[in-house]
This record gives sequence, structure tokens and C-alpha cells, in this order.
Amino acid sequence: MTASSLEISLPPRRITILGSTGSIGCSTVDLVGRQPEVFAVDTLTAFSNVSLLAKQARELGAKLVVIGDENRFKELKDALSGSSVEVAAGRNALIEAAMRPSDFVMAAIVGAAGLEPTLAAVCRGATVGLANKECLVCAGDLMKAEMEKSGATLLPVDSEHSAIYQVFDFDRREAVESIILTASGGPFRTYTQAQMENVTPEQAVAHPNWDMGAKISVDSATMMNKGLEIIEAYHLFGIESEKIQILVHPQSVIHSCVTYVDGSVLSQMGVPDMRTPIAYSLAWPRRMATPVERLDLASIAKLTFEAPDFKRFPSLSMAYQALKSGGSAPTILNAANEVAVAAFLDGKIGFLDIVRVVEKALERMPSKPMATLAHVHEIDTMTRDMASDWIVDFARTGGASSGIAVSR
Ligand code: NAD
Ligand code: MG
Repeated sequence: MTASSLEISLPPRRITILGSTGSIGCSTVDLVGRQPEVFAVDTLTAFSNVSLLAKQARELGAKLVVIGDENRFKELKDALSGSSVEVAAGRNALIEAAMRPSDFVMAAIVGAAGLEPTLAAVCRGATVGLANKECLVCAGDLMKAEMEKSGATLLPVDSEHSAIYQVFDFDRREAVESIILTASGGPFRTYTQAQMENVTPEQAVAHPNWDMGAKISVDSATMMNKGLEIIEAYHLFGIESEKIQILVHPQSVIHSCVTYVDGSVLSQMGVPDMRTPIAYSLAWPRRMATPVERLDLASIAKLTFEAPDFKRFPSLSMAYQALKSGGSAPTILNAANEVAVAAFLDGKIGFLDIVRVVEKALERMPSKPMATLAHVHEIDTMTRDMASDWIVDFARTGGASSGIAVSR
């Protein structure tokens, strides 16, 4: 069968892309734009990048665009003047956009800012491609409860979770022994603790294999990204933390594995290009052709693997611990990490201070049950306020009174 006959066999789909101007958003736009006979774009959203959002809307013939930053409403309206694209702005408009009856919602906003729009899509029973892992980390139980009520389908877009989803026997869960999340190890995989102390934001965002947004790139460098993915996997696959393993695999070819009781290990492979897992979610339960470079194992010749180093990358143990503690701990971990990563990117704290802030937040913040969105908001806001105070204090005193800089 040729690529084009595969493409034609997909039924038409109306698509919403939350966060269309980001790295995942642009890759989704690229794939959708290649098959206009299949994908009709209903809604695109972004936070502040008016020019790119307007360009995407014109090219894809979107019905509605929403800009998160209300101050940019007029700018967006002007950029789309003369077109039939409807324009809206602000937080509520983002949530309303997710509630429109499209066939597929790509949740590609970064951070907990994406929780409410993603939850709105889940609550209306949508098929959601989930890139925004922070939603599941900070409100996993709530998201799952709403999914059960609404019958929504969550399709993982994170490459590791997409890989697991493709080889996980959901009908025979008892046969699954463990899952193995592979990790590239990030740009500082071979660095000593002392070398990591002075790395710059530029070095941290320069990922060896993947071209991603700034926040997830820093998360990959601290390996907090893998920590978040442990919690994400727990919610997506209903698997206990003891059965979730991490394997460092610097080439990022094996995207993760499921091990079965008979000793079989199933994995999904491919070149590191997010368009493959995005396409999997867009076409699910079918497959669609992509322009992604094909995997040439003979030319790669060698794949290597290492055990993770929990000492140099303490974020991994923190994530396991937060998952075991349950309640508000994952929400605290996520919120403190978001604040600390932003402060590092702004040059306010050092690279290793990121995990110090998270560790301190997990120690100091109270543990609470997280049954409602109000609970999530309360803990998320409290953690952000506290972490921001430590960072201000830290910047003023060089860490002496904040306690952040105390070495581990
Ligand atoms: P990015 O920073 O490149 O893009 C983020 C998008 O979210 C942009 O469109 C931005 O306008 C929008 N946004 C940011 N803040 C917002 C707010 N407050 N309100 C509304 N919209 C807002 O991020 P990315 O790298 O594309 O990552 C997006 C999500 O996908 C993250 O959760 C990330 O962990 C996950 N993910 C990304 C990759 C990747 O390769 N980039 C891989 C796996 C998972
Ligand atoms: Mg990933």
C-alpha cells in the first residue's frame, strides 16, 4: 500500500490545537497541514505569539483563534483582519475553546497553565492527545475521575508513553511485569555535580537529540522530565511506581519498553522526531504517513544503555517519593519545579538550585488530599508563592538565608 492510499483511508477530523505555536504545536500544525482533506482545523490557541498564531490560522483556515494574553487581543484581531477567523482572548476563552465539539484536541500548552483547558476537553468526553504531562502530574487523580465520568480518551503524545501505549496489553494487564522508561540522559549526562553547578541556560536548553521548548529542555537536563514521566506513566497505565524503571539510552531510538511475565520485552523504535508520536495520536486508532526520517539501524550500528545515576540526578528519587507520598506531593513537585526552571532561565538561580527548590518545597509544604480542582489550585498557588519567596531571598543573599544553596 502506498503512503497516499494510507492517507486517504483516514476519516476526516476536526482538530483543536491548544498551544499551537510551541514545539509540539508546530509539529502538529506541520502534520495537519499536509493532509487538508483529512484534518479540518477548528481552533488554535497560544499565549503571546500573535504573528505565528495568525499565520497558522490563515494557512490552515482555522475557525477560531484564542490568545491567552488578553493584552494582545487587538493585535491578533488586526493581524487577522479581512479573514473570517473568529478571535478571542483570555483564560476563559481558552477553556471555552477546549469545550468546542472538535474530534481531537492536542493538549500542547506547557505546564500547569494547561490544566483547565485540558480538563475542559476531558470533561466533554473528547479524544485528547496529551503532550502536556504537567496536567497529569499535578492533577492526575482528578483527570482520571473526570475521564471515567465523561468517557474521554487520553492518547499519550510524550514519546515514551506513546511507545508504551503501542505495546501495552491493556486486556491482559496482569501479564505486564514492568515498564521501562528510556531517557537520553540530557546534555549533562556525563557531567560531575561540580560541572553542573555552573552550567548556563543556553547549555541546558541545547538537548543532544530532541528540539523542544525551553521548559522541557531544562527538565531533561535535570532529569526532572523523567521524574514527571514516572508520575505520568503511573496515571496513564495504572502501574505502581515499583514497576516503573528508568533506563538511560543516549541515542533515543528505543522510546520505551514493556516487559511481560514470560520474559518478553516489547518496545517501539524510531528516530527522535516528535511527529511520530503526534501522528500516532492524530490518526489513532489507525496510522498515518509522516515525512519523518526512517530509522536506519545499520548506520546507527550501536545502541547503548546505562543505569540512571540517582545521586547526580536527585530529581528521579524525588519523583518516585512524591508518587509514593501521593496527595498533594506531585502537585508540589510540579509547581516548585516550574517556578525554579523559570528562575533558572531568567538567570536568578543556578542549575542545581532547581532541584534544591523542589526538594525544599516537598519538605516544607503540607500534604493534603487533592479531590477537586480547588484543592489543586490552592496547593499549586501556595507552592509557587513559597518557592518564589525563596528565590527572591536566594538572589538577595546568594543562598545564605534561603537555605536553597545548602549542598546535598
Ligand atoms: P513550548 O514552550 O514550545 O510551547 C508551549 C505552548 O503553550 C505555546 O504555544 C505557548 O503559547 C503556550 N502557552 C504557554 N503558556 C501558556 C499559558 N499560560 N496559557 C496558554 N498557553 C500557554 O512547549 P513544548 O516543548 O511544545 O511543550 C508543550 C508540552 O508538551 C509540555 O507539557 C511538554 O512537557 C510536552 N512535551 C513536549 C515535547 C517536545 O518535544 N517539545 C515532548 C514531550 C512532551
Ligand atoms: Mg518524553
